[in-house]
Amino acid sequence: MGEQLGDWKRTHTCGALRPEHVGADVVLLGWVHRVRDLGGVLFIDLRDRHGISQVVVRDEEALLAVAKRLRPEFVVGVTGAVQRRSPDTVNAKIATGEVEVVAREFRLLNEAKTPPFQIAEDTPVSEDVRLRYRYLDLRRPRLQSNIGLRHKIALGIRKYFDEHGFWEIETPILTKSTPEGARDYLVPSRVHAGEFYALPQSPQIFKQILMIGGTDRYFQITRCFRDEDLRADRQPEFTQVDVEMSFASETQIFDLIEPLIQRVFDISGHQIETPFRRMPYAEAMARYGSDKPDLRCGLEIVEVSTAFAESAFRVFKQIVTDGGVIRGIVVPGGNKYTRNQIDGIVEQAKQIGFGGLIWVRPGEPPTSSVKALTEGELREAIRLGQATSDDLLLLAGGAPEQTSKLLGQLRLAIAKRENLLNPEQFSFLWVTDFPLLEWNGDDGRWFSMHHPFTSPADADLDKLELDPGSVRAKAYDLVLNGSEIGGGSIRIHDAALQARIFQRLGISDEEAKLRFGFFLEALEYGTPPHGGIALGLDRIVALLANESSIREVIAFPKTATAVDLMASAPSPVDAKQLRELHIRTQK
Ligand code: ASP
Repeated sequence: MGEQLGDWKRTHTCGALRPEHVGADVVLLGWVHRVRDLGGVLFIDLRDRHGISQVVVRDEEALLAVAKRLRPEFVVGVTGAVQRRSPDTVNAKIATGEVEVVAREFRLLNEAKTPPFQIAEDTPVSEDVRLRYRYLDLRRPRLQSNIGLRHKIALGIRKYFDEHGFWEIETPILTKSTPEGARDYLVPSRVHAGEFYALPQSPQIFKQILMIGGTDRYFQITRCFRDEDLRADRQPEFTQVDVEMSFASETQIFDLIEPLIQRVFDISGHQIETPFRRMPYAEAMARYGSDKPDLRCGLEIVEVSTAFAESAFRVFKQIVTDGGVIRGIVVPGGNKYTRNQIDGIVEQAKQIGFGGLIWVRPGEPPTSSVKALTEGELREAIRLGQATSDDLLLLAGGAPEQTSKLLGQLRLAIAKRENLLNPEQFSFLWVTDFPLLEWNGDDGRWFSMHHPFTSPADADLDKLELDPGSVRAKAYDLVLNGSEIGGGSIRIHDAALQARIFQRLGISDEEAKLRFGFFLEALEYGTPPHGGIALGLDRIVALLANESSIREVIAFPKTATAVDLMASAPSPVDAKQLRELHIRTQK
């Protein structure tokens, strides 16, 4: 057993001592980071969240004997006097590096087993081991700095919303299923046999009801739960900055969120410019083949079908005749690529799903990978694509949407291959005017692209029944460097319109009543126009901490297969618990 702390009180953290403290008598408490035993002299690096201080033990036999027992990760208190280090031992790499503490007494507060990985060295450790021993991983500088940054960002967000008249309000965790397109996590009720709560996929309905309740401006940094199929960087529980505002237009939401993002970036020392670019969904799809285009590189998709309407190359001619398209990407400076480089791109295109990718080198005369293409066709395609003699033109043909989507993926692959994405650059974009509905052939019905409470564009209301696919929504996503970091919409505040949307979605009156009856009823009691957004906090912190996975900015994340390796969750429960919950399981 370790010694007691007794009346010892920390005077300084391990990161606090500076030359101005020379001569002071201090008490430091922390973990043994490293021990260097030079025989008659022993150096101990003592560590806490704030930093590392060097403790030195010299000459005194009894004290040396105590110090020699110390091992990495033991918890230790030390008292002694601060002195200047000799010039040859000054460590410019740490903030306390000019001073050291000459130990007078130690208290060994606790021992530690030998950790499965070193805290003091940044040696590679498998992620499973890090997650299994998360408490040790949390002691390492990387996670300490990430978790600290996350705290500062969350605090900055709270201050910002408070300054703008928003209240942070908690919404229920045990609730009724809200539709956001994923499966719910269900919680069985003990008291109501056979009935279940759902964990919220988002506070969507509650935040709208808060607007009906006259709250006017709401935000919450809140956990959301989605039982989704496994995807590499998803967490079953994740954190959203959830926002709702009465009497708001889309522009007002943008004007609220842009300075917030600016402030959050400022917290991590990044200056960014507002306003952010805005681009309708249709334009993003046409020019970049994606609803979250990364605008750090050009590589726009170009439409060149007309050049091949009468092509001598049968494949292209057939595609155009059948109503398909020939589209391409202009790679700036690509004309100087070697054959090897181009073959690499063509190979990558195959992996993405292109049957064939054709390259064209502008020049006198232009050349191409397909002999059948005539000089005139090539010149016309180069003209339509506005490619210069320095560029490379890549062409593919097929159904319009599919071709653009594939070219959108190819564009990103090329940008990564050729290092065209500057990691220091932050390129923000609002994608607006999403389609309200999308057709699902398997189910044979329309689905909401955002969620069923999203308002259609005023101008498109007439088309709801006649041409549902063409109805735009008052929905927007915030995109940063090709990642969606937030999304929201102006909501339907009219009960009749909400009913019309449910009808369009093939949700019967009875079903709507069963699932969101309380909400539909609330809508009828004077609902103000309102709208909002939710931002993905984990993703934002990860981007600012320069981490590629959100697991690096969550204290206790789950694996990609939704397992908590430290707590071993999920896990079986005992039969009695199940009986009380009226549940029988089957393998
Ligand atoms: N509830 C939506 C979501 O979680 C965001 C919103 O519309 O505010 O994606």
